[in-house]
Amino acid sequence: MKRCLIIGGGFAGLSSAVFLAEKGFQITLLEASPKLGGRAYALYEPKYDDYFDNGQHILMGCYKTTLELLNKINALSDFNFPEILKVNFVDSNGRIFQLKTVPSIYPINLILGFFGYRAISRRARLNIIKLLIKNFFTRLDSLENYTVEEWLRVNKQSNESIKNFWEIIAIATLNTKINKASAHIFVNAIKKMFNSGHKSYLLIIPHYDLNNFYVNKAKEFIEKFGGKILTSQKVVKLVAEGNKIIKVITNNTVFNEYDYIISCIPEYSLRKIKIENSYYKDFSFIPEFKYSPILNVHLWLKENPFNERFYGLLDSSIHWLFNHGKHISLTTSAAEELIKQSDKEILSLFYSNLERYFPIFKSEFVIDYKIIKEKRATFIPDKDFVKQRKEIFSPFENLFLAGDWTNTELPSTIESAVFSAYKIAKEIINTSKL
Ligand SMILES: Cc1cc2nc3c(=O)[nH]c(=O)nc-3n(C[C@H](O)[C@H](O)[C@H](O)COP(=O)(O)OP(=O)(O)OC[C@H]3O[C@@H](n4cnc5c(N)ncnc54)[C@H](O)[C@@H]3O)c2cc1C
Repeated sequence: MKRCLIIGGGFAGLSSAVFLAEKGFQITLLEASPKLGGRAYALYEPKYDDYFDNGQHILMGCYKTTLELLNKINALSDFNFPEILKVNFVDSNGRIFQLKTVPSIYPINLILGFFGYRAISRRARLNIIKLLIKNFFTRLDSLENYTVEEWLRVNKQSNESIKNFWEIIAIATLNTKINKASAHIFVNAIKKMFNSGHKSYLLIIPHYDLNNFYVNKAKEFIEKFGGKILTSQKVVKLVAEGNKIIKVITNNTVFNEYDYIISCIPEYSLRKIKIENSYYKDFSFIPEFKYSPILNVHLWLKENPFNERFYGLLDSSIHWLFNHGKHISLTTSAAEELIKQSDKEILSLFYSNLERYFPIFKSEFVIDYKIIKEKRATFIPDKDFVKQRKEIFSPFENLFLAGDWTNTELPSTIESAVFSAYKIAKEIINTSKL
């Protein structure tokens, strides 16, 4: 039986373990922190007996590898699979504009859905539809030198359609402002969302928190196949012999019984690991990426006036409101400026926004709050990143690199993490047959 040591217990680490455990590999997974989940984790609030996520994680119908993973670990029943795309966008006067598809034939249903989105003029809607149709034929390599904003301007998108449509999609997908993000990665993402068939554009919101919907089930699956998951094991050093890593050293243990190692940690963590007995003293040859924060404000309410599962807010400091019953979660992506503010300033700004956008909401409804600032939530997919990502390599024949930042051509998402794991697992399975 081939043995695989996996470093990191986020989506990439847990999915590598699932894919390989199922194929008969003996798995040992090392996670530095006492908990699993990485950047997608849940917390428990004992006062209200309520779990809440560091930030709402949404999946899409185009997350093919992630959905395959969730199917394997028996987690798909925990998802709300919508039949149609329906998003309620609210403006600062409390008016609601629906972006809603009908369950008819793709892509006519999508075109009709966009055409009915009245937050923007008829002409702007037509231009959006034209560009989405043109994307069926767009070659990605023609976009390497454009930012998203430049690409939208070249394609005659107006300020109105950028503000009330494209910017919302780009920031939600890339967590990066459109003047910085690469058009290459954005167009690839929207091709997968809108140009890949009926279910790919659907938004999928889990019923439960991240622990209950996937972490615990992935762990159960791996352990059922005899895998070991060891937490509080931070890898600090690797020892090489020729072009192989022969020892993996954590803060308290030495591991040397394995055939393959998969690193599933972000590049900033990988760069801290020392390498002994090699030309490479560490991983400083891996490019250093820039990161963008996500802010989440969770409010526990004595009275919850919201009817929908979630809302998008147009031209607001709050981008999304997710309704979890006992609490609501307010999300702001690319929140560089906001995270510098104090809790008091953030709350005051958010309450005034909520009262304007939802006249039924009163700040007196709030009984408690938690503010979570994820400073390195996702990497910034700018033009440099797209080029540097192609140069990532492992100089050791038994060490493989996975994680959302590796060369998947996808933004910093769950699907990128799981797809990277899937690709590496496949490569290891093929190598092990030689
Ligand atoms: C607030 C927030 C909201 C998000 N929303 C969405 C969303 O709606 N949809 C979406 O698709 N994506 C979303 N993302 C992005 C998504 O969470 C990440 O892309 C994904 O979780 C990355 O997984 P990963 O396994 O590549 O890395 P990570 O999750 O970073 O996992 C790496 C793991 O390695 C461990 N580790 C690090 N160093 C070591 C070491 N030396 N030894 C051992 N272990 C180590 C870390 O502790 C961590 O557990 C969001 C992210 C955040 C923060």
